[in-house]
Order: sequence, then structure tokens, then C-alpha cells
Amino acid sequence: PYSKLPEAVPSIFTTIGKLAREQRALNLSQGFPNFPVDPKLIDLVEKAMREGYNQYAPMEGIYSLREVISNKISSLYGKQYHPDKELTMVAGATQGIYTAITAVVHEGDEVIVLKPAYDCYEPAIAINGGVPVFVQMKGIDFKIDWDEFRAAVSSKTRLVIINTPHNPTGSILSAEDMTELESILRDTNIMVLSDEVYEHMVFDEEKHESVSKYPGLSERSFVMASFGKTFHVTGWKMGYCAAPESLMKEFRKVHEYNVYAINHPIQKALASYLSEESNYLQLSSFLQQKRDLFIKAISPSRFSFTPAKGTYFQLVNYSAISDEKDVLFAKRLIREKGIASIPISVFNVDQLDQKQLRFCFAKTDETLLKAAEIIIKI
Ligand code: PMP
Ligand code: GLN
Repeated sequence: PYSKLPEAVPSIFTTIGKLAREQRALNLSQGFPNFPVDPKLIDLVEKAMREGYNQYAPMEGIYSLREVISNKISSLYGKQYHPDKELTMVAGATQGIYTAITAVVHEGDEVIVLKPAYDCYEPAIAINGGVPVFVQMKGIDFKIDWDEFRAAVSSKTRLVIINTPHNPTGSILSAEDMTELESILRDTNIMVLSDEVYEHMVFDEEKHESVSKYPGLSERSFVMASFGKTFHVTGWKMGYCAAPESLMKEFRKVHEYNVYAINHPIQKALASYLSEESNYLQLSSFLQQKRDLFIKAISPSRFSFTPAKGTYFQLVNYSAISDEKDVLFAKRLIREKGIASIPISVFNVDQLDQKQLRFCFAKTDETLLKAAEIIIKI
């Protein structure tokens, strides 16, 4: 009776990761790169530590980093966030997401979640007494049915969560999607939590559509970013939240007494590393090469797929191979074939099983080719 999350179970990343380690399988499941971090970035962290940036940072993050972030957002998306009032450094996007939800979701509030959805949204909604309202994205390209979305909006809707580029599907929201959302939310008090941790991983000349580009959205949005994704350092747990002053004020009330401040020397290093655009603008082409290498190498297989438009995840469909449920099929591939992936029914409404697995292609070419060798024999 004391449990606030009676239904929560260990995440699919925990479960599959453990099995993959036990079986020594090639691990393309949890999303993290297996290639080295830029030594320049490591040097900058070491320098910051040696220079003495080892005590508490300011609550909202160091000014120099917030200033570079503000300039970056303004040059990419044309929106100026005030470094002092509208940007806060967080210990990874997961923490930022939890904080934003806790700051604004009251008991009984409805939160619209597009499914499949990354798994950290719902526990945060539940622990705050919110009620998730699901809209399942459908079809091979996981488009949002905006009529269904509109029907999900009610007088109790407090927040909408969007994620582009999207984990686990690798799809992206288009400019039309964003204007549709902007028009649905016009004249409401509904807020948006925009999970944009994969903003620098968009392929085939497509553009990332940040809520920051749309005034009717940015005025009501918390935007979440993660340096773990952008700089191949998922273990550092560093990110930021951008939001208009009125929302950021509430965000900081929770952040200050839960986290207070985040890693100081890494903030110092990031401030200088982030000021060189090429350190993040080349990520899309770097990962597109990886995606292309991977999908070319698995094309003789019995899996079917459409190339990911963003993120470092490729979904594949195995209905030509097996009728087995995706969780069982993924576990069997680990045990019998030595390769680990993420089954995606766990992210869907009612665990809807579309016979799809997610492979992470943020791996060395060698790992990707080894994986493909296994995949084409399945
Ligand atoms: N949102 C999405 C969609 C993600 O894929 C991830 C990382 N798996 C996160 C948030 C969390 O990011 P972080 O590691 O910075 O907490
Ligand atoms: N974001 C990573 C993924 O989607 C996993 C992070 C986690 O394990 N919670 O694979």
C-alpha cells in the first residue's frame, strides 16, 4: 500500500542489458556509442578539474555554458532564450523530464503521451498523480493522426509530451506536424514537454523541427536536451532545459531542492567545447554513414525496414521470420544468436506488438558489420 509506483517494473534496458551481458551477446540494444569520446573534450574536463572547478556550481548552471547554449539555439532555431532566466543545466534529460513534469502536473491532470513512447515519461506522470492519455502513432512511418490527437485533448489536459527525433522509431516530426500542434494548442493553457535529445541526429537532408522555431509552441514549452547523446558520453548525465521565464521559474523550484546543482568541471569543459559548432553539426553525417553501412549490410536479411530519419536507432520488422512475441523473440536472439536488440511493444499502448526490434547503430563499423553477419543468418 505504501508503493507510489506499484506497477513499475525494471526497464527493458535493464532486463535486456543484463541478459546480453550474461550471454556475452553483441549488444545493439541500449542506446549508447561504443566508440571513444573526443580526446579534446576529455582534456577540457581534466583541465577544468586541475584549475579547481571542483566545488558546487551555481544552481542553474554556470553562466558561460548557458550563454553558449543560448547562442546555439538562437543560431539554429531563431529563438533567444535568456541565459539567466530561461536555461537551466540538468543531470541528464531524464532528470529534466522528471523535474518539468513534477513542476506542473497536479493530481488528476491529464498528460497526452504519443506512443510508442520512451519509458521515463509515464512513471513521472504517475508519481505526481497525473493521468496519461495515450495516442498511438501508426503506420510504417509512425505518423501522428492529428484528429485522434485533437480528440484526446480535454479540459483536464495539462501537458503534451512530444519527442523528435523519436526513440524508439527513428521518425521525425515535420514542419506540418509542428504547425498542426501549434494550432491545436492555440488559445489553451496546455503546456508542452519537448524531448529533443536527438536534435543533432537527423538524416537525408531533413531538418530538426524544434519547438523553439514555433512561437506558439515555444511560449508554452519545456525543451529538453542531452549532451550524453550529442557528445557520445551517455555516462556523464548532462543536459539542459530551455523554457520561457514563467515555466522556468516553476522548474527551478523543483530542481533547486532536488538536485540543486550539477557537475561543475564538466560544465566548464562543455562551455568551451560547445562553442565550436563543428563539434555537434557533424554528428548527423557521421551517424548517417553508420546507418547506411548497417542497413546496406543487413539488406540481404529477412528483416524488413524503412531507414531511420533520425536518432541512432533502426527499427526492423521480423514478421517474415517468426510469429513469436517481440520480447520473447528478442530474448531468444540473445540466447541463440548472440545479438541483443530492444523489442518495442513495451513502449506501445497495451503492449501492441508490431513484431519490431530496435537496433542501435551508434557503434564502430566493425561492430555493425559483425552484427549484420549475424542478422543476415536469422
Ligand atoms: N529521452 C529520450 C527519448 C532518450 O532516448 C533518452 C536516453 N535514452 C533520454 C530522454 C534520457 O537522456 P539522458 O541520458 O540525458 O538522461
Ligand atoms: N536512452 C537509451 C535508449 O533508449 C537508454 C537509457 C536507459 O537505459 N534508460 O536505449
